[in-house]
Amino acid sequence: MSLPIITLKAGKEQSLNRFHPWIFSGAVNYISRELEEGELVRVVSSKDEFLAIGHFQIGSIAVRVLSFEDTVIDRNFWKKKLAVALELRRSLGFHESQTNVFRLIHGEGDGLPGLIVDFYNGTAVYQAHSVGMYLVRHELAELFKELMGDQLVAVYDKSDKTLPFKANIQPENGYLLGQSEPCIVQEYGLSYRVDWVEGQKTGFFIDQRENRKLVEQFSKGRDVLNMFCYSGGFSFFAMQGGAQKVHSVDASAKAIELTRQNVALNFKDDQRHEAYVADAFDFMRDMKDRYDLVILDPPAFAKHRGALRQALQAYKRLNAKAFEQIRPGGILFTFSCSQVVSKDQFREAVFSGAAISGRKVRILHQLHQPADHPINIYHPEGEYLKGLVLYVD
Ligand code: SAH
Repeated sequence: MSLPIITLKAGKEQSLNRFHPWIFSGAVNYISRELEEGELVRVVSSKDEFLAIGHFQIGSIAVRVLSFEDTVIDRNFWKKKLAVALELRRSLGFHESQTNVFRLIHGEGDGLPGLIVDFYNGTAVYQAHSVGMYLVRHELAELFKELMGDQLVAVYDKSDKTLPFKANIQPENGYLLGQSEPCIVQEYGLSYRVDWVEGQKTGFFIDQRENRKLVEQFSKGRDVLNMFCYSGGFSFFAMQGGAQKVHSVDASAKAIELTRQNVALNFKDDQRHEAYVADAFDFMRDMKDRYDLVILDPPAFAKHRGALRQALQAYKRLNAKAFEQIRPGGILFTFSCSQVVSKDQFREAVFSGAAISGRKVRILHQLHQPADHPINIYHPEGEYLKGLVLYVD
């Protein structure tokens, strides 16, 4: 059966010729028939030349491209895509290392726009951000099992909050394959309890793995503030690195409970750690010069373009607070995970914060997301996590 056809307006094929995987609704001239959300479509230029095949969705991104080649999107197509993604993780060495938590599929970065899959020591958590990827969830879960064998015990679908609500699908989270319980995962030999059913996102912030490890190197003898701690990772890497004192702060009581459990898993009865439920801006208002290593890993302040200006202000204010109060010779790890905030915009916001404080600041490291969150060079928006390690004189 032939696929429905979307014809673009003249000139709108240019971004596709550069392999950008999104087609905005404004570029669409004509649709050959009425479409259901999530349907596969063929995209052609105004001159009727083949451009791509992708998933259709109602919204500002009308099509997410799966292939720039004229091919059939069938079980074999998906299997090849998943196998390539798995092979990349294998080549990164996750299967033999002390780390059994990693991202299996990173959307556009793995040529699968609209899909995130995270792996937690035997359980894959499937999160569809597009209706098209939601509709193929059972097929893809089976293919993961085919490719991973005994390494994979269960696949849990957690798409209830990530599908466009206008699609009116009302998804319910649940197991697509097998069954599993919250488990302990290892990251560079340190342990976390991960609960994909109750936890934020797919259960854990895998993307900060390398940056947590780097904190270890900077922690010896320091008094550490881990602001926005979630499940506490930066805190126990700091403890591992020989920190003198570590304070973990999060606005969510659940996150603080999780942090306490995780710290206890790794450093039982260690008196160096304390955790507080508090709002970041309140806590930092009078943090004085108590810390000489501060980590700021806030949630995405801008979730869409419209919120960009406000978000940049918030990054500036937050970082200014840290610069004003960090001890001389202190280290600041500061991050943004907002996709719509560019690397340069984030730097500008942080540097403005430094200027307000009047402190002298130097860049020691420039940080980003790890290799299991690859960035498709034709989709620069995929570079969402940015960070700086700064020395405050
Ligand atoms: N650093 C963490 C991930 C942080 S995610 C890690 O390594 O896993 C962002 C966290 O910020 C969430 O846990 C959320 O509960 C918390 N948060 C959101 N708004 C906050 C606020 N205003 N003050 C303090 N914490 C906040």
